[in-house]
Amino acid sequence: MTETSGPRPVRAYRGTQLNTKGWQQEAALRMLQNNLDPEVAEHPDDLVVYGGTGRAARSWGAYDAIVRELKQLEDDETLLVQSGKPVGVMRTNEWAPRVLIANSNLVGDWATWPEFRRLEAEGLMMYGQMTAGSWIYIGTQGILQGTFETFAAVARTLGRESLAGTITLTAGLGGMGGAQPLAVTMNDGVAICVDVDRSRIDRRIEHRYLDVLADDIDDVLTKAVAARDEGRGLSIGLHANAADVFPQLLEMQAPIDIVTDQTSAHDPLAYLPSGYSFDTWSTDRERDAEQFTADARASMAKHVEAMVGFQKAGAEVFDYGNSIRAEAVLGGFDDAFAFPGFVPAYIRPLFCEGKGPFRWAALSGDPADIAATDRAILELFPEDEHLRRWITLAGERVQFQGLPARICWLGAGERHRAGLKFNEMVASGELSAPVVIGRDHLDSGSVASPYRETEAMKDGSDAIADWPLLNALVNTASGASWVSLHHGGGVGIGRSIHAGQVTVADGTELAAQKLERVLSNDPEMGVIRHVDAGYDEAIDFAESHHVAVPMRRQ
Ligand code: NAD
Repeated sequence: MTETSGPRPVRAYRGTQLNTKGWQQEAALRMLQNNLDPEVAEHPDDLVVYGGTGRAARSWGAYDAIVRELKQLEDDETLLVQSGKPVGVMRTNEWAPRVLIANSNLVGDWATWPEFRRLEAEGLMMYGQMTAGSWIYIGTQGILQGTFETFAAVARTLGRESLAGTITLTAGLGGMGGAQPLAVTMNDGVAICVDVDRSRIDRRIEHRYLDVLADDIDDVLTKAVAARDEGRGLSIGLHANAADVFPQLLEMQAPIDIVTDQTSAHDPLAYLPSGYSFDTWSTDRERDAEQFTADARASMAKHVEAMVGFQKAGAEVFDYGNSIRAEAVLGGFDDAFAFPGFVPAYIRPLFCEGKGPFRWAALSGDPADIAATDRAILELFPEDEHLRRWITLAGERVQFQGLPARICWLGAGERHRAGLKFNEMVASGELSAPVVIGRDHLDSGSVASPYRETEAMKDGSDAIADWPLLNALVNTASGASWVSLHHGGGVGIGRSIHAGQVTVADGTELAAQKLERVLSNDPEMGVIRHVDAGYDEAIDFAESHHVAVPMRRQ
């Protein structure tokens, strides 16, 4: 790489003026910039968007080169991005994606953190996480509805209508984990959220995701119990190490009803071991990555042992998709898988209908555009009470980070209707500029991840990664604006393969044709994947929605 540029604040272009040769290129450019907006990214100077070291580009030089290429890219060309670096521009056609992205992929036997880190240090790769390296991260809101849905499902499991009168204990207030406090209070519960990084606690309070900070462990319990007894929702930050605090709270027999965790446990260098100072974290892990990894895993073993202790004491406990159980086993705690992952526990029935985190962003930068799309969603799906509750709460309580955006879980048979409606609204001028429509890689048919999305599949097919590969291919063949294929997101290197797509609604007839295909085929992959695994809900759904599955099991 020839460029030697460095960090600087990045903010997405806004308005209707093109800086590129077409809206698809413009959308990719604005969403890349948006991922690095200091309001959006957790550590923008390092190009880190969220999820440990999930990056948007490999280096600042690579970032500049991607921007330059996107500005020159024609409507029948495709830019190739390999682990955050632009490596080629190909003549394709106008139905082809404008950008194809592959991040962090390694051949099976080499798919380990040490090998990945060696290649990263050589400047040959970057960690793309899920929506960091695929340019469709929209801030903490991106996970908020999923977290809200998950906690609503937890309440139902406990035989309750809401979380009112319960206390949830969790850790991690980073890019994704920061959604937990608001998701719990939106369900009327009390949340205790532990983080070693005081700046993350302050950021969540500033963004209105977290309510208050406690002085210490006694103060946190006093505040939590008082709010619980009044049936009042409240989220409380505690500045401490979870590996210390979880066992202490267990020892104190704290009245905790629900326990989970969203520290960046998938990457042992992004989990601060007990006894280490936060201030010297980055130098300590660089000095001796192996020792640091061993100490982090030993701490995770203590942390998870306490979670199992809470489970034995009667609490509802689940892994929230960060591999902490697998890391705890490596740290010496054999009983870590005593509690389930959140997908088999609460989410899989939604995946059977192709439901997952659908999202869109207004390229105008105007919040009024999102307000108009919110109204459109309510008009399109008037019978869905749960969706109405979410859209209404989100409109009231979610502060935008970067370009205004919205997320809501929609499934097969629904997403293309929303996409076509938004495209019409762009064409008619009801929206002031085009909208990009994408999703998380954490979706029903786009990921193989045996500790998370595909944990405990009915037919034992947890580790089969053909599905996300087919998903990327089908989205490429259907007209998506950019398509990405990643390894290791969410749960870490060696543990997942996943794909993403983003498609632009620019108000044209061509966009309508692409949106109809992509937003039908993409969620239908989820239905097909679950039909193939033998889920009755998916089989019924495929039948009633005419999803073609050649060898459907009877
Ligand atoms: P992040 O890196 O932005 O934040 C992690 C937070 O954990 C940081 O604030 C850090 O200070 C804190 N932390 C680290 N060690 C700690 C310790 N010992 N005690 C207390 N706090 C500690 O990551 P993120 O984007 O919030 O993601 C968190 C995890 O969730 C990742 O493993 C990610 O892959 C996973 N994830 C889950 C989902 C899901 O749907 N469940 C989705 C995306 C990501």
